[in-house]
Amino acid sequence: MQLILNYINGEYCKPIDDKWLDNYNPAEGKIYSKIANSGAEDIEKAYKAAADAFPSWSETSLDERSRILQKIADIIEANLDQLAEAESLDNGKPLSLAKSVDIPRAASNFSFFAKAITQFSSEAHESIGLQSMNFTLRQPIGVVGCISPWNLPLYLFTWKIAPAIAAGNTVVAKPSEITPYTAYLLGEICTEAGLPKGVLNIVNGLGQTAGEAITKHPKIKAITFTGGTKTGEHIAKIAAPMFKKLSLELGGKNPNLIFADCNYDKMLETTVKSSFANQGQICLCGSRIFVEASIYEQFKKDFIEKVSQLKIGHPMNSETKIGALVSKSHLEKVESYVEIAKTENQNILFGGKRVDVENFSEGYYFQPTIIEVKSNDCRINQEEIFGPIVSIMPFETETEALNMANDTKYGLSSTLWTSDMNRVMRMSKKLECGIVWVNTWLNRDLRTPFGGTKQSGVGREGGLEALRFFTEPKNICITYE
Ligand code: NAD
Repeated sequence: MQLILNYINGEYCKPIDDKWLDNYNPAEGKIYSKIANSGAEDIEKAYKAAADAFPSWSETSLDERSRILQKIADIIEANLDQLAEAESLDNGKPLSLAKSVDIPRAASNFSFFAKAITQFSSEAHESIGLQSMNFTLRQPIGVVGCISPWNLPLYLFTWKIAPAIAAGNTVVAKPSEITPYTAYLLGEICTEAGLPKGVLNIVNGLGQTAGEAITKHPKIKAITFTGGTKTGEHIAKIAAPMFKKLSLELGGKNPNLIFADCNYDKMLETTVKSSFANQGQICLCGSRIFVEASIYEQFKKDFIEKVSQLKIGHPMNSETKIGALVSKSHLEKVESYVEIAKTENQNILFGGKRVDVENFSEGYYFQPTIIEVKSNDCRINQEEIFGPIVSIMPFETETEALNMANDTKYGLSSTLWTSDMNRVMRMSKKLECGIVWVNTWLNRDLRTPFGGTKQSGVGREGGLEALRFFTEPKNICITYE
């Protein structure tokens, strides 16, 4: 059976206690590998390797760091097929999606930060009349911790690691225990690319043990975390008294606001994706759909028709559009929301049931589900389901739509469909979130700030924001005569 080992100081190793966790293939509901169930001692070992590597790596020239990062990107690209298969096997996502989105984006994360670090600059302030000059050094922090979730495994893992090491830090990283396979494969890619030993250390294990040991480690000075809001709150409570630098990318309940004056066909096609891509397990999915009343009935009919055509099946099948949910417990959570909808007397327009895929009846398949809700204050609209369930409801006015969009504890992204540029500006300014997509969705330029407001997170990553997070500014003030 495949063993998912730790990668510490440039070498694969077993966890110190020799404890293991089962890892499931969600498409078939079977155990296919064993994951290192690491604890605080493994984190300490990884920390020591990272601390030893820091003095040399932080002084490595930008050209050299950039060259190594680009090499990692190139090797990821060269192994696209193998990595995509591993991602799909581990996560249940369609192989086509892993090939077209997850793995190419993991490569882009490295190639983007390989370039970005060569363009990173800091400020100088001349104090005219005071005979002094200030300049800001932006120095790497030291050993940093990167903790990532299961929905876009290699994509989000590398989104943190690439800027951290580009900026000269060394890293202790933990992928989700539910999807560790591609992070494990990244170890040998880094070795092949010539990344010096100890710059990146990958430790597998549970959040409460391995993850918490990273957060609690007194000498890991910054934590970047992507995952659930509850976990983020817990990490913040531990990190705050230690004054660690924190970047938190958390949950969402994103509104998709559709006005009658939009490009209808483009909106419909994109809305199917923004609702159900990756089985709805993307923090940016538009799970609350609000439609202007004049086109509501038409939209409802067309949307149901399009969604009913999505092929649910084994992720390795090239026709599959909806693969398996990531785990049995997640399937149960998603399903429980259909029951909640029933008790709230909401109208299940489509889906709502598990799917028995031929020959894979143990897999975690669920229908894409559309629920018509009566108001925005129901649990279906207020709680993050993070699966293939969207709600729809009509609105009459722009103000009503805006109020409902903002009436949630989350504030990650919003999508707006309209051709009225005045409305675009009015609403974009007032939507309470970190990202507004207008007549598009999941359109990402890696230079832009990425993150959420309210309970969707603290801080921004992406582009120079990430390089700023992973460096400590220090002002040097020099006087002259
Ligand atoms: P999760 O919070 O359960 O786990 C995320 C990671 O944190 C995992 O590696 C886990 O092992 C670790 N972890 C768990 N408990 C920990 C603890 N006490 N200390 C330290 N680490 C701990 O989240 P998940 O279920 O893996 O992912 C789904 C969530 O992630 C959703 O809420 C989704 O919205 C969110 N998400 C957000 C973004 C974003 O960019 N804002 C992107 C993707 C996913």
